[in-house]
Amino acid sequence: MGSNKTDEQLHIFFLPLMAQGHLIPAIDMAKLFSSRGLKSTIVTTSLFAPFLSKSLPTSDTQIDILTIKLPTAEVGLPEDVEGVHMAKTPDMQNKFFRSCGLLGPQIVDILEQRRRRRHRLPDCLVADMFFPWATDVAAKFGIPCILFHGTSYFALCAALCVFLHEPYKNVSSDSEPFMIPNFPDEIELTRSRVADFVKNDDGSVLATWYKESKKMEARNYGVLVNSFYELEPRYADHYTEVLGKKAWHIGPLFLYEKEAEQRACRGMETSINQHECLKWLDSKEGDSVVYVSFGSVANFADDQLMEIAAGLEASGQQFIWVVKKEKREGVVREEWLPEGFEERMEGRGLIIRGWAPQLMILEHEAVGGFVTHCGWNSTLESVCSGVPMVSWPVSAEQFYNEKLVTRVLRIGVEVGAKKWKRLVGDFVKREAVEKAVRNVMEGEEAEEMRSRAKRFAEMARRAVEEGGSSVSDLDALFEDLRSQRAARDSTKKNFLTK
Ligand code: UDP
Repeated sequence: MGSNKTDEQLHIFFLPLMAQGHLIPAIDMAKLFSSRGLKSTIVTTSLFAPFLSKSLPTSDTQIDILTIKLPTAEVGLPEDVEGVHMAKTPDMQNKFFRSCGLLGPQIVDILEQRRRRRHRLPDCLVADMFFPWATDVAAKFGIPCILFHGTSYFALCAALCVFLHEPYKNVSSDSEPFMIPNFPDEIELTRSRVADFVKNDDGSVLATWYKESKKMEARNYGVLVNSFYELEPRYADHYTEVLGKKAWHIGPLFLYEKEAEQRACRGMETSINQHECLKWLDSKEGDSVVYVSFGSVANFADDQLMEIAAGLEASGQQFIWVVKKEKREGVVREEWLPEGFEERMEGRGLIIRGWAPQLMILEHEAVGGFVTHCGWNSTLESVCSGVPMVSWPVSAEQFYNEKLVTRVLRIGVEVGAKKWKRLVGDFVKREAVEKAVRNVMEGEEAEEMRSRAKRFAEMARRAVEEGGSSVSDLDALFEDLRSQRAARDSTKKNFLTK
């Protein structure tokens, strides 16, 4: 009997965390895999399913979306909290992550059903680092599990070295510096910049999850990295050769997407008409606008927004600033903005309330700087657009990405945030905002950072061309999965013929 296409085709199950910063690269991966003949299934909650479907070309029948139900009631969360961005307090976030820890049985059911119906099992689970249970689920079905952290090699190495050596225990205060141990470069950190769930061994949801996830990193088949070799070669080598992890670098994932409409609208419906936004940018000179945005999760308090507004005004620069606020009709003065700010900034500054077409903005030639929280997607988007950064890390692994940007790649300046603090970050004063914005936009050093960034952007483009480093690693990954499948098939055959 001849084999049909579905028999030959590799099939990957993606299990991304329900957060824009994790779903966006998962969609990119599924599309990329589909363009190379693989089948993908993305598993997510119903909140994200419609937008996911919209992000896929109608002709693409190789990507399925499967919805699961987040066990919100079990952890005391309102039913509609289906994404990280909807968990607005640290307590809600804890509950959210606890409910993520309960998702395993649903995935087992899905796979059991496939087996009962004699459908082929997927060839691999690509699981978010927030789902450490996925390793055991994959093992139960005899398939490999590959982790996706959605961050840089640099951050992966730093996180592991800090986890293994606990250097923050050898300092006497939160502000006393220490070097990251067993690391390629001399990178200084302080305890205040290390995540709570790493340094506090307090049995909290996140501390427990983190330990579990690091254990899983050791047991998984490998790690997929949304980065490219030429950006951080010493860290790519360190991760595999010194820290002993199997990893494939296949990014920047968004560079494979060629359709302008898809590139403009990512993750959510944008709150501004894209053409209007383009028109505004088209009216500006090259490298004359600074873009200010802090990703999908960070949510600054009003007094911090006030400092940003004042700092931007004092910097004298043109800007686009994304704020998680809605325009309240009939309100004369919004409490988070200085009096008369928008009137004074008319033509010079644009505030986007809600969701911005970030990639489209960063890639516009008028944009010459990016004030960012150093989420990895934002950082990579900035690198690939040749735009230097003001780093303003808030939480997660963002303090590591900051060091990569400012100390290793030398394409950014630090705003001076010193404390890891979920959602709201360390408080930064207007003078620091003004100074950092000027430093990234004006002067010789800014020009040097910009030209270095543009060189990395060029390398990124080459990495995703045929024969480029990322495409070669992608082929190596598929080859590996095919041989895994062949080994499974032959074991099964031997068992049946015995
Ligand atoms: N993003 C966007 N518009 C916005 C805010 C964010 O398109 O207004 C996208 C951004 O381009 C990036 C992702 O959302 O791809 C955010 O991911 P990142 O890792 O930078 O930060 P996180 O949201 O995970 O903190």
